[in-house]
Amino acid sequence: MTPGAEAAPGIWQAAYIVAALTIVLSIKWLSSPVTARRGVISGEFGLLFAIIGTLLRQEVVSFEWILVSMAIGAAIGAPLAYLMPMTAVPQLTALSHAFGAFAAALVGTADYYKAIAEGHPLTGATMCAIVIETVLGYLTCTASVMAFGKLQEIIPTRPMTYKGQNFVNLTLFAIAVALGAWMIYEPAPPWVFPAYTGLSLLFGVLLILPIGGGDMPTVIALLNSYAGAACCAMGFALGNRLLIIAGAVNASSGFILSVIMCKAMNRSFTNVLFGAFGQVQEGGSTKAAQRPVRSATAEDAAQILSSARKVIIVPGYGMAVAQAQHKLRELSDSLVKRGVDVQFAIHPVAGRMPGHMNVLLAEADIPYDRLHEMEDINQDFAETDVALVIGANDVVNPAARHDKNSPIYGMPILDVDKAQTVMVIKRSMNPGFAGIDNELYYMPRTLMLFGDAKAVVGEIAKELPVHA
Ligand code: NDP
Repeated sequence: MTPGAEAAPGIWQAAYIVAALTIVLSIKWLSSPVTARRGVISGEFGLLFAIIGTLLRQEVVSFEWILVSMAIGAAIGAPLAYLMPMTAVPQLTALSHAFGAFAAALVGTADYYKAIAEGHPLTGATMCAIVIETVLGYLTCTASVMAFGKLQEIIPTRPMTYKGQNFVNLTLFAIAVALGAWMIYEPAPPWVFPAYTGLSLLFGVLLILPIGGGDMPTVIALLNSYAGAACCAMGFALGNRLLIIAGAVNASSGFILSVIMCKAMNRSFTNVLFGAFGQVQEGGSTKAAQRPVRSATAEDAAQILSSARKVIIVPGYGMAVAQAQHKLRELSDSLVKRGVDVQFAIHPVAGRMPGHMNVLLAEADIPYDRLHEMEDINQDFAETDVALVIGANDVVNPAARHDKNSPIYGMPILDVDKAQTVMVIKRSMNPGFAGIDNELYYMPRTLMLFGDAKAVVGEIAKELPVHA
């Protein structure tokens, strides 16, 4: 097909309808680990149909440039997807939000200047869509790059605060909103749009500075929502219904995810955005106290586990680092064969991305009916013989329940300390993501098994007494 020639509208519209349906179904299926793979494939097909539908439309000016852009995108995206380790997926997600939001903002900018160059004044509604698209696009872009930097520890993960910070941020945002409103109500002088763009970019940076690394997962979900809203606004500006649908789905799902994560951490949005969570506070148990701990060997652990009736396994970030999920499956299978009731407790922010543990345990074919969300299993710890904590730290730190000075105070945790015996596998006494000591390790009922999670779990499985 030559550029500018339009396929029969029925064809691209049909492609768009299939794309919209598969994208909505994808979100539905992604909500359960049982159907998540189907959700991913459906989403991929949705995007493929969206691209095909768009290429069949008459607005295409040059297929050559589109091919060049696709090649550049693939050259960046494919190595990122293959080379980034699973543990760096949050950073990857932040980067992909940055690219998506930047693309939306550039389209809005191009629309604005194109209309000026062609001498067509933009209507208030279109200008309103462009203003929303560009402010969200540019601020999400720089905020996502900042989130990437914090997660990658290129910039300090601790909150960077100064006096009057919220006032400065809100004032800058208010100025940007005022400039946006100016452009909507009347053609503004030429300096307004660049100033508006600059303020949006700056606001994205300032928004993330005071937020601590511990809140980054929630912030990334929120930025996902902003990027979706920018794409939705772009759909209104371009009169493209598919963009409106896909953007709205993205915006609402990202928003719902951030609400779920806020609940999981017992935090409000305002607290996440303005609370400087993760700031080291005086009096908080942030330093590893040199207190004695009880350590055990893999042989001891195997004995205790094989004589238990009920075991709850709590995986965390360390399991992901060690890639211990397959060994864990072997251990769990051996225990089940011995008649032990083995269940898995999943904290919503265990690991480094939402659903991190579910993905890894699903990869190891651990049956879904053994995986339980925190609120469903927490009451079971009190009648559990052994809580086996594998590379989890912050999500099992009892300080979150009672230490008001702790940076994680108020975050709901898995109540492993209520089990008869707690066994913790980790390599050292180093803290986890929040950088704080964990009193769980010093409790009399806790046994520490020091070593790499994969190696230790493998040794425990080997040491299990021979099954009669
Ligand atoms: P943590 O980061 O609190 O702790 C992980 C522990 O794993 C560390 O204490 C570490 O101890 C241990 N570990 C690391 N490598 C290994 C290994 N090879 N073998 C054995 N142990 C290992 O993890 P949690 O899952 O408990 O908590 C997640 C934290 O991350 C929370 O603070 C959460 O807010 C934050 N977060 C969550 C995100 C999400 O969406 N899930 C995203 C970003 C942050 P040692 O070094 O001694 O081995």
